[in-house]
Amino acid sequence: MSQAAKWDHEFVWHPFTQMQDWLQQIPVVIERGEGIYLIDEDGKKYYDGVSSLWVNIHGHNHPDLNKAIIEQVGKISHSTLLGLVSPPSAQLAKELVDIAPEGLEKVFFSDDGSTAIEVALKMAYQYRQLVGQTKKTKFISLTSAYHGDTLGTVSVGGITLFHEVFHSLLFKPILLPSPGIYRDVADREQAFEASLQELERILQDQHEEITALIMEPLVQAAAGMLVMPEGYLKRVRELTKQYDVFLILDEVATGFGRTGKMFACENENVAPDLMTLSKGITGGYMPLAATLTTKKIFDAFLGTFEEKKTFYHGHSYTGNALACAVALASLEVFRKEHVIDNLPPKIEAMADALKSVEILAHVKEVRQRGLIVGIELEKDVASHIPYHPNDAVGAKVAVLARTKGLICRPIGDVVILMPPLASTAEDIRDMVRILHE
Ligand code: PLP
Repeated sequence: MSQAAKWDHEFVWHPFTQMQDWLQQIPVVIERGEGIYLIDEDGKKYYDGVSSLWVNIHGHNHPDLNKAIIEQVGKISHSTLLGLVSPPSAQLAKELVDIAPEGLEKVFFSDDGSTAIEVALKMAYQYRQLVGQTKKTKFISLTSAYHGDTLGTVSVGGITLFHEVFHSLLFKPILLPSPGIYRDVADREQAFEASLQELERILQDQHEEITALIMEPLVQAAAGMLVMPEGYLKRVRELTKQYDVFLILDEVATGFGRTGKMFACENENVAPDLMTLSKGITGGYMPLAATLTTKKIFDAFLGTFEEKKTFYHGHSYTGNALACAVALASLEVFRKEHVIDNLPPKIEAMADALKSVEILAHVKEVRQRGLIVGIELEKDVASHIPYHPNDAVGAKVAVLARTKGLICRPIGDVVILMPPLASTAEDIRDMVRILHE
Protein backbone atom coordinates (compact mmCIF):
# COMPACT_ATOMS: atom_id res chain seq x y z
CA MET A 1 0.00 0.00 0.00
CA SER A 2 1.18 3.52 -0.71
CA GLN A 3 1.84 5.99 2.09
CA ALA A 4 -1.43 7.79 1.31
CA ALA A 5 -3.37 4.53 1.54
CA LYS A 6 -1.68 3.63 4.83
CA TRP A 7 -2.40 7.02 6.40
CA ASP A 8 -5.95 6.81 5.09
CA HIS A 9 -6.45 3.47 6.83
CA GLU A 10 -4.88 4.76 9.99
CA PHE A 11 -6.55 8.16 10.29
CA VAL A 12 -9.47 8.79 7.93
CA TRP A 13 -13.12 8.01 8.66
CA HIS A 14 -14.95 7.89 5.31
CA PRO A 15 -18.49 9.17 4.68
CA PHE A 16 -21.36 6.67 4.40
CA THR A 17 -18.85 3.84 4.73
CA GLN A 18 -18.76 0.72 6.86
CA MET A 19 -15.17 1.18 7.99
CA GLN A 20 -14.75 -2.47 8.91
CA ASP A 21 -15.17 -3.38 5.24
CA TRP A 22 -13.08 -0.44 4.12
CA LEU A 23 -10.12 -1.45 6.25
CA GLN A 24 -10.06 -4.87 4.59
CA GLN A 25 -9.60 -3.40 1.10
CA ILE A 26 -6.65 -1.75 -0.54
CA PRO A 27 -8.06 1.67 -1.43
CA VAL A 28 -7.67 3.36 -4.78
CA VAL A 29 -5.80 6.63 -4.36
CA ILE A 30 -6.79 9.26 -6.91
CA GLU A 31 -3.89 11.53 -7.59
CA ARG A 32 -4.97 13.52 -10.64
CA GLY A 33 -7.89 14.32 -12.89
CA GLU A 34 -7.95 15.04 -16.60
CA GLY A 35 -11.19 15.94 -18.35
CA ILE A 36 -13.72 13.24 -17.50
CA TYR A 37 -11.02 10.88 -16.17
CA LEU A 38 -9.68 10.22 -12.70
CA ILE A 39 -6.10 8.92 -12.55
CA ASP A 40 -4.79 6.90 -9.63
CA GLU A 41 -1.29 6.88 -8.17
CA ASP A 42 -0.29 3.98 -10.46
CA GLY A 43 -1.38 5.97 -13.51
CA LYS A 44 -4.54 3.90 -14.16
CA LYS A 45 -7.33 5.95 -15.76
CA TYR A 46 -11.02 5.70 -14.85
CA TYR A 47 -14.10 7.40 -16.23
CA ASP A 48 -15.52 9.58 -13.47
CA GLY A 49 -18.96 8.06 -13.98
CA VAL A 50 -20.52 9.90 -11.04
CA SER A 51 -18.87 13.30 -11.64
CA SER A 52 -17.21 12.84 -8.23
CA LEU A 53 -20.70 12.81 -6.73
CA TRP A 54 -22.51 15.24 -9.05
CA VAL A 55 -20.00 18.04 -8.75
CA ASN A 56 -17.40 17.90 -11.56
CA ILE A 57 -19.86 18.69 -14.33
CA HIS A 58 -17.16 20.07 -16.67
CA GLY A 59 -14.72 17.30 -15.78
CA HIS A 60 -11.38 17.81 -14.03
CA ASN A 61 -8.52 20.20 -14.57
CA HIS A 62 -10.55 22.49 -16.80
CA PRO A 63 -8.23 25.30 -17.97
CA ASP A 64 -10.84 28.06 -17.51
CA LEU A 65 -11.72 26.96 -13.99
CA ASN A 66 -8.05 26.55 -13.06
CA LYS A 67 -7.40 30.06 -14.36
CA ALA A 68 -10.27 31.56 -12.37
CA ILE A 69 -8.94 30.06 -9.14
CA ILE A 70 -5.39 31.19 -9.82
CA GLU A 71 -6.47 34.73 -10.70
CA GLN A 72 -8.61 35.01 -7.59
CA VAL A 73 -5.87 33.62 -5.33
CA GLY A 74 -3.67 36.45 -6.59
CA LYS A 75 -6.25 38.97 -5.35
CA ILE A 76 -7.74 37.46 -2.19
CA SER A 77 -8.99 33.99 -1.23
CA HIS A 78 -11.49 34.92 1.44
CA SER A 79 -13.00 37.88 3.22
CA THR A 80 -16.04 37.63 5.44
CA LEU A 81 -19.50 38.62 4.19
CA LEU A 82 -20.25 39.85 7.69
CA GLY A 83 -20.11 43.60 7.18
CA LEU A 84 -18.10 43.45 3.93
CA VAL A 85 -18.71 42.86 0.23
CA SER A 86 -16.67 40.71 -2.11
CA PRO A 87 -16.87 41.29 -5.89
CA PRO A 88 -17.13 37.58 -6.83
CA SER A 89 -20.04 36.88 -4.45
CA ALA A 90 -21.90 40.01 -5.58
CA GLN A 91 -21.47 39.14 -9.25
CA LEU A 92 -22.35 35.49 -8.68
CA ALA A 93 -25.56 36.44 -6.86
CA LYS A 94 -26.51 38.63 -9.84
CA GLU A 95 -25.73 35.89 -12.36
CA LEU A 96 -27.63 33.23 -10.40
CA VAL A 97 -30.69 35.50 -10.24
CA ASP A 98 -30.37 36.11 -13.99
CA ILE A 99 -30.62 32.39 -14.79
CA ALA A 100 -32.95 31.31 -11.95
CA PRO A 101 -36.68 30.69 -12.38
CA GLU A 102 -38.80 33.82 -12.26
CA GLY A 103 -39.27 35.49 -8.90
CA LEU A 104 -36.10 34.21 -7.24
CA GLU A 105 -34.28 37.47 -6.66
CA LYS A 106 -32.21 37.11 -3.49
CA VAL A 107 -29.25 34.81 -2.81
CA PHE A 108 -28.02 33.53 0.55
CA PHE A 109 -24.66 31.75 0.32
CA SER A 110 -23.52 28.79 2.39
CA ASP A 111 -21.15 25.84 1.97
CA ASP A 112 -22.86 22.62 0.89
CA GLY A 113 -26.19 21.11 0.02
CA SER A 114 -27.16 20.46 3.62
CA THR A 115 -26.51 24.03 4.73
CA ALA A 116 -28.44 25.41 1.75
CA ILE A 117 -31.43 23.31 2.86
CA GLU A 118 -31.06 24.34 6.51
CA VAL A 119 -31.14 27.96 5.36
CA ALA A 120 -34.28 27.37 3.27
CA LEU A 121 -36.10 25.63 6.14
CA LYS A 122 -35.17 28.32 8.65
CA MET A 123 -36.03 31.16 6.25
CA ALA A 124 -39.45 29.72 5.51
CA TYR A 125 -40.11 29.12 9.19
CA GLN A 126 -38.95 32.55 10.34
CA TYR A 127 -40.90 34.25 7.54
CA ARG A 128 -44.13 32.83 8.93
CA GLN A 129 -43.26 34.04 12.43
CA LEU A 130 -42.42 37.50 11.10
CA VAL A 131 -45.66 38.01 9.19
CA GLY A 132 -47.83 36.80 12.08
CA GLN A 133 -48.66 33.34 10.64
CA THR A 134 -47.30 31.89 13.84
CA LYS A 135 -49.27 28.64 13.60
CA LYS A 136 -47.58 27.80 10.30
CA THR A 137 -44.72 25.78 11.75
CA LYS A 138 -44.89 22.40 10.00
CA PHE A 139 -43.16 21.10 6.90
CA ILE A 140 -44.28 18.53 4.37
CA SER A 141 -41.60 16.27 2.94
CA LEU A 142 -41.73 13.18 0.75
CA THR A 143 -41.11 9.59 1.68
CA SER A 144 -37.74 8.39 0.36
CA ALA A 145 -36.51 12.00 0.14
CA TYR A 146 -32.92 12.91 0.90
CA HIS A 147 -31.86 16.47 1.68
CA GLY A 148 -28.58 16.06 3.57
CA ASP A 149 -27.11 14.89 6.85
CA THR A 150 -27.39 17.78 9.32
CA LEU A 151 -30.16 17.39 11.88
CA GLY A 152 -32.57 19.77 10.14
CA THR A 153 -32.11 18.13 6.78
CA VAL A 154 -32.29 14.64 8.28
CA SER A 155 -35.61 15.68 9.83
CA VAL A 156 -37.11 16.26 6.40
CA GLY A 157 -35.44 13.17 4.95
CA GLY A 158 -37.37 10.00 4.30
CA ILE A 159 -34.72 7.28 4.02
CA THR A 160 -35.11 5.19 7.15
CA LEU A 161 -31.71 3.52 6.94
CA PHE A 162 -29.93 6.87 7.25
CA HIS A 163 -32.25 8.49 9.74
CA GLU A 164 -33.77 6.05 12.20
CA VAL A 165 -30.92 6.13 14.73
CA PHE A 166 -31.37 9.90 15.16
CA HIS A 167 -35.14 9.69 15.41
CA SER A 168 -35.50 11.23 18.87
CA LEU A 169 -33.38 14.25 17.92
CA LEU A 170 -35.45 15.26 14.91
CA PHE A 171 -38.48 17.42 14.25
CA LYS A 172 -41.28 15.54 12.53
CA PRO A 173 -42.56 16.68 9.15
CA ILE A 174 -45.79 15.51 7.58
CA LEU A 175 -44.74 12.72 5.23
CA LEU A 176 -46.27 12.65 1.79
CA PRO A 177 -46.03 9.34 -0.11
CA SER A 178 -43.60 9.85 -2.98
CA PRO A 179 -45.04 8.88 -6.36
CA GLY A 180 -41.73 7.08 -7.05
CA ILE A 181 -41.83 5.00 -10.15
CA TYR A 182 -43.32 1.69 -11.09
CA ARG A 183 -42.64 -0.42 -14.12
CA ASP A 184 -46.29 -0.84 -14.73
CA VAL A 185 -47.93 2.25 -16.22
CA ALA A 186 -51.17 1.66 -14.34
CA ASP A 187 -49.31 1.50 -11.01
CA ARG A 188 -47.43 4.64 -11.88
CA GLU A 189 -50.58 6.58 -12.68
CA GLN A 190 -52.21 5.32 -9.53
CA ALA A 191 -49.24 6.39 -7.38
CA PHE A 192 -49.22 9.79 -9.07
CA GLU A 193 -52.88 10.40 -8.35
CA ALA A 194 -52.75 8.87 -4.86
CA SER A 195 -49.86 11.11 -3.85
CA LEU A 196 -51.57 14.24 -5.14
CA GLN A 197 -54.88 13.34 -3.53
CA GLU A 198 -53.08 12.82 -0.23
CA LEU A 199 -51.35 16.18 -0.62
CA GLU A 200 -54.64 17.90 -1.27
CA ARG A 201 -56.17 16.24 1.77
CA ILE A 202 -53.22 17.32 3.97
CA LEU A 203 -53.41 20.86 2.66
CA GLN A 204 -57.18 21.11 3.08
CA ASP A 205 -56.97 19.89 6.69
CA GLN A 206 -53.77 21.51 7.88
CA HIS A 207 -52.68 24.34 5.59
CA GLU A 208 -52.99 26.85 8.40
CA GLU A 209 -50.21 24.98 10.22
CA ILE A 210 -47.91 24.32 7.27
CA THR A 211 -45.08 26.61 6.28
CA ALA A 212 -43.56 24.77 3.30
CA LEU A 213 -43.29 21.61 1.27
CA ILE A 214 -39.77 20.49 0.42
CA MET A 215 -38.92 18.11 -2.40
CA GLU A 216 -36.31 17.08 -4.94
CA PRO A 217 -37.68 18.00 -8.36
CA LEU A 218 -38.12 15.21 -10.94
CA VAL A 219 -35.69 12.71 -9.39
CA GLN A 220 -35.28 11.47 -5.83
CA ALA A 221 -31.55 10.91 -6.06
CA ALA A 222 -30.33 9.11 -2.95
CA ALA A 223 -33.49 6.98 -3.02
CA GLY A 224 -31.90 5.25 -6.02
CA MET A 225 -32.75 7.74 -8.77
CA LEU A 226 -36.52 7.45 -8.46
CA VAL A 227 -37.91 9.36 -11.40
CA MET A 228 -41.16 11.18 -10.72
CA PRO A 229 -44.03 10.99 -13.16
CA GLU A 230 -44.31 13.83 -15.63
CA GLY A 231 -46.55 16.63 -14.41
CA TYR A 232 -46.23 15.80 -10.70
CA LEU A 233 -44.08 18.81 -9.86
CA LYS A 234 -46.44 21.16 -11.68
CA ARG A 235 -49.45 19.87 -9.75
CA VAL A 236 -47.55 20.17 -6.45
CA ARG A 237 -46.73 23.78 -7.33
CA GLU A 238 -50.39 24.54 -8.10
CA LEU A 239 -51.62 22.99 -4.87
CA THR A 240 -49.00 24.62 -2.64
CA LYS A 241 -49.77 27.99 -4.18
CA GLN A 242 -53.49 27.50 -3.71
CA TYR A 243 -53.04 26.76 0.01
CA ASP A 244 -50.33 29.37 0.75
CA VAL A 245 -47.62 26.82 1.43
CA PHE A 246 -44.11 27.60 0.21
CA LEU A 247 -42.49 25.22 -2.24
CA ILE A 248 -38.81 24.58 -1.46
CA LEU A 249 -37.11 22.87 -4.39
CA ASP A 250 -33.91 21.05 -3.57
CA GLU A 251 -31.92 21.40 -6.79
CA VAL A 252 -28.68 20.44 -5.04
CA ALA A 253 -28.32 17.36 -7.24
CA THR A 254 -30.51 18.23 -10.22
CA GLY A 255 -29.30 21.81 -10.72
CA PHE A 256 -26.74 22.91 -13.32
CA GLY A 257 -27.78 20.89 -16.33
CA ARG A 258 -28.29 17.36 -14.97
CA THR A 259 -31.81 16.92 -16.33
CA GLY A 260 -31.11 18.61 -19.65
CA LYS A 261 -32.17 22.07 -18.47
CA MET A 262 -30.19 24.39 -16.23
CA PHE A 263 -32.60 23.63 -13.37
CA ALA A 264 -34.90 20.61 -13.19
CA CYS A 265 -37.97 22.71 -12.40
CA GLU A 266 -37.68 24.36 -15.83
CA ASN A 267 -38.81 21.05 -17.34
CA GLU A 268 -42.28 21.72 -15.91
CA ASN A 269 -42.16 25.53 -15.98
CA VAL A 270 -42.29 25.67 -12.22
CA ALA A 271 -40.87 28.46 -10.08
CA PRO A 272 -40.46 27.65 -6.37
CA ASP A 273 -40.47 30.10 -3.44
CA LEU A 274 -37.06 28.86 -2.35
CA MET A 275 -34.47 26.93 -4.31
CA THR A 276 -31.28 25.33 -3.05
CA LEU A 277 -28.14 24.89 -5.14
CA SER A 278 -24.75 23.31 -4.50
CA LYS A 279 -22.81 20.34 -5.97
CA GLY A 280 -22.31 21.45 -9.61
CA ILE A 281 -22.21 25.13 -8.72
CA THR A 282 -18.40 25.41 -8.76
CA GLY A 283 -17.78 22.55 -11.17
CA GLY A 284 -16.27 20.57 -8.29
CA TYR A 285 -13.56 23.06 -7.44
CA MET A 286 -14.71 24.51 -4.12
CA PRO A 287 -17.50 23.83 -1.63
CA LEU A 288 -20.28 26.38 -2.13
CA ALA A 289 -24.05 26.51 -1.89
CA ALA A 290 -26.80 29.05 -2.41
CA THR A 291 -30.38 29.40 -1.27
CA LEU A 292 -32.41 31.57 -3.62
CA THR A 293 -35.65 33.16 -2.58
CA THR A 294 -38.22 35.79 -3.46
CA LYS A 295 -38.32 39.49 -2.66
CA LYS A 296 -41.54 38.84 -0.73
CA ILE A 297 -39.71 36.54 1.71
CA PHE A 298 -36.65 38.81 1.86
CA ASP A 299 -38.76 41.91 2.58
CA ALA A 300 -40.40 40.32 5.61
CA PHE A 301 -36.98 40.26 7.29
CA LEU A 302 -36.49 44.03 6.94
CA GLY A 303 -36.85 46.12 10.08
CA THR A 304 -35.00 47.88 12.85
CA PHE A 305 -32.55 45.99 15.05
CA GLU A 306 -35.05 46.04 17.95
CA GLU A 307 -37.71 44.35 15.83
CA LYS A 308 -35.47 41.23 15.78
CA LYS A 309 -36.32 40.43 12.18
CA THR A 310 -32.74 39.62 11.21
CA PHE A 311 -32.01 36.20 9.76
CA TYR A 312 -29.51 35.03 12.33
CA HIS A 313 -27.67 32.47 10.26
CA GLY A 314 -24.24 32.38 8.65
CA HIS A 315 -21.07 30.34 8.25
CA SER A 316 -17.42 31.31 8.38
CA TYR A 317 -16.94 30.62 4.67
CA THR A 318 -20.21 32.21 3.51
CA GLY A 319 -19.61 33.75 0.06
CA ASN A 320 -15.99 32.59 -0.12
CA ALA A 321 -14.26 34.53 -2.88
CA LEU A 322 -12.42 31.57 -4.43
CA ALA A 323 -15.59 29.51 -4.54
CA CYS A 324 -17.65 32.35 -6.03
CA ALA A 325 -14.93 33.17 -8.59
CA VAL A 326 -14.81 29.60 -9.84
CA ALA A 327 -18.62 29.38 -9.83
CA LEU A 328 -18.65 32.43 -12.13
CA ALA A 329 -16.10 30.73 -14.38
CA SER A 330 -18.29 27.62 -14.44
CA LEU A 331 -21.28 29.69 -15.61
CA GLU A 332 -19.03 31.15 -18.29
CA VAL A 333 -18.10 27.60 -19.39
CA PHE A 334 -21.85 26.85 -19.69
CA ARG A 335 -22.17 29.83 -22.08
CA LYS A 336 -18.90 29.40 -23.98
CA GLU A 337 -19.19 25.64 -24.50
CA HIS A 338 -22.98 25.69 -25.08
CA VAL A 339 -23.24 23.00 -22.42
CA ILE A 340 -27.05 22.93 -22.18
CA ASP A 341 -27.60 23.02 -25.96
CA ASN A 342 -25.19 20.10 -26.37
CA LEU A 343 -26.96 17.85 -23.87
CA PRO A 344 -29.86 16.33 -25.89
CA PRO A 345 -27.70 14.03 -28.10
CA LYS A 346 -25.75 12.90 -25.03
CA ILE A 347 -28.95 12.11 -23.14
CA GLU A 348 -30.20 10.21 -26.19
CA ALA A 349 -26.92 8.30 -26.47
CA MET A 350 -27.33 7.31 -22.82
CA ALA A 351 -30.92 6.12 -23.37
CA ASP A 352 -29.88 4.19 -26.44
CA ALA A 353 -26.89 2.53 -24.78
CA LEU A 354 -28.92 1.59 -21.71
CA LYS A 355 -31.19 -0.60 -23.86
CA SER A 356 -28.41 -3.19 -23.79
CA VAL A 357 -28.44 -3.15 -19.98
CA GLU A 358 -32.21 -3.19 -19.60
CA ILE A 359 -32.45 -6.70 -21.05
CA LEU A 360 -29.84 -8.28 -18.75
CA ALA A 361 -31.03 -11.11 -16.53
CA HIS A 362 -30.74 -9.41 -13.14
CA VAL A 363 -31.78 -5.92 -14.16
CA LYS A 364 -35.12 -5.09 -12.60
CA GLU A 365 -35.38 -1.58 -13.94
CA VAL A 366 -33.32 1.12 -15.63
CA ARG A 367 -34.31 4.65 -14.66
CA GLN A 368 -33.01 7.66 -16.51
CA ARG A 369 -33.74 11.35 -16.44
CA GLY A 370 -31.27 13.48 -18.38
CA LEU A 371 -27.79 12.35 -17.40
CA ILE A 372 -29.01 10.75 -14.18
CA VAL A 373 -29.20 6.96 -14.25
CA GLY A 374 -30.17 4.28 -11.72
CA ILE A 375 -29.98 0.59 -12.62
CA GLU A 376 -31.86 -1.52 -10.13
CA LEU A 377 -30.78 -5.14 -9.75
CA GLU A 378 -32.83 -8.05 -8.52
CA LYS A 379 -31.88 -11.67 -7.86
CA ASP A 380 -34.86 -13.07 -9.70
CA VAL A 381 -36.69 -10.50 -11.74
CA ALA A 382 -39.55 -12.75 -12.86
CA SER A 383 -40.41 -13.75 -9.28
CA HIS A 384 -39.49 -10.37 -7.71
CA ILE A 385 -36.92 -11.91 -5.38
CA PRO A 386 -34.42 -9.28 -4.21
CA TYR A 387 -30.78 -9.94 -3.39
CA HIS A 388 -29.90 -10.43 0.26
CA PRO A 389 -28.24 -7.26 1.67
CA ASN A 390 -25.13 -9.37 2.40
CA ASP A 391 -24.86 -10.09 -1.32
CA ALA A 392 -23.90 -6.40 -1.67
CA VAL A 393 -24.59 -6.78 -5.35
CA GLY A 394 -24.46 -3.06 -6.17
CA ALA A 395 -21.09 -2.71 -4.45
CA LYS A 396 -19.76 -5.75 -6.32
CA VAL A 397 -20.80 -4.32 -9.67
CA ALA A 398 -19.14 -1.00 -8.79
CA VAL A 399 -15.86 -2.75 -7.86
CA LEU A 400 -15.89 -4.81 -11.07
CA ALA A 401 -16.66 -1.72 -13.15
CA ARG A 402 -13.72 0.02 -11.49
CA THR A 403 -11.31 -2.73 -12.50
CA LYS A 404 -12.53 -2.14 -16.08
CA GLY A 405 -11.98 1.62 -15.86
CA LEU A 406 -15.32 3.08 -14.72
CA ILE A 407 -16.08 4.67 -11.37
CA CYS A 408 -19.76 4.25 -10.53
CA ARG A 409 -21.51 3.97 -7.16
CA PRO A 410 -24.02 1.64 -5.55
CA ILE A 411 -27.03 2.71 -3.56
CA GLY A 412 -28.05 -0.65 -2.17
CA ASP A 413 -28.99 -2.75 -5.20
CA VAL A 414 -29.09 0.27 -7.50
CA VAL A 415 -26.02 1.12 -9.54
CA ILE A 416 -25.90 4.82 -10.30
CA LEU A 417 -24.31 6.78 -13.07
CA MET A 418 -24.26 10.55 -13.55
CA PRO A 419 -21.32 11.28 -15.83
CA PRO A 420 -19.85 14.75 -16.32
CA LEU A 421 -21.91 16.92 -18.67
CA ALA A 422 -18.64 17.31 -20.57
CA SER A 423 -18.70 13.62 -21.58
CA THR A 424 -19.20 13.05 -25.30
CA ALA A 425 -21.86 10.67 -26.64
CA GLU A 426 -18.99 8.28 -27.41
CA ASP A 427 -17.72 8.46 -23.80
CA ILE A 428 -21.21 7.74 -22.54
CA ARG A 429 -21.60 4.71 -24.78
CA ASP A 430 -18.24 3.44 -23.55
CA MET A 431 -19.18 3.88 -19.87
CA VAL A 432 -22.38 1.94 -20.43
CA ARG A 433 -20.45 -0.72 -22.34
CA ILE A 434 -18.27 -1.26 -19.27
CA LEU A 435 -21.33 -1.43 -17.02
CA HIS A 436 -22.93 -3.90 -19.40
CA GLU A 437 -19.85 -6.13 -19.20
N1 PLP B 1 -29.99 17.44 -1.42
C1 PLP B 1 -29.85 16.49 -2.35
C2 PLP B 1 -30.93 16.25 -3.34
C3 PLP B 1 -28.68 15.72 -2.39
O1 PLP B 1 -28.56 14.74 -3.31
C4 PLP B 1 -27.66 15.97 -1.44
C5 PLP B 1 -26.42 15.19 -1.44
O2 PLP B 1 -26.26 14.17 -2.05
C6 PLP B 1 -27.87 16.98 -0.50
C7 PLP B 1 -29.03 17.71 -0.52
C8 PLP B 1 -26.84 17.27 0.54
O3 PLP B 1 -25.76 17.91 -0.03
P1 PLP B 1 -24.33 17.89 0.73
O4 PLP B 1 -23.87 16.47 0.71
O5 PLP B 1 -23.49 18.79 -0.10
O6 PLP B 1 -24.55 18.40 2.11
